[in-house]
Amino acid sequence: MPDDAVPGHLLDTDELGRTVMARNDEGWCAAIDPYHLRCTIYSQRPAICRQFSMGGDDCRTVRQDYRRQQHDLSTLFSPIHP
Ligand code: SF4
Repeated sequence: MPDDAVPGHLLDTDELGRTVMARNDEGWCAAIDPYHLRCTIYSQRPAICRQFSMGGDDCRTVRQDYRRQQHDLSTLFSPIHP
């Protein structure tokens, strides 16, 4: 958004030419502290993050998708019992 002031090293350009948050090797936002799961630029976070409602419908959908992915991965790599 025009008024966003995110540090440039945390930005990337998507396939449509839009400016987006860069992602780390695991696909998480580059601004996240992966050990504490906190935003490292909280006071400078972009407007879309400010509008995201913790515990809201979108939040719950993202959490469900993440849990589903984790479950699928654990199933994929679990030992096969005869
Ligand atoms: S609040 Fe926004 S900028 Fe901060 S870590 Fe989360 S997605 Fe990234």
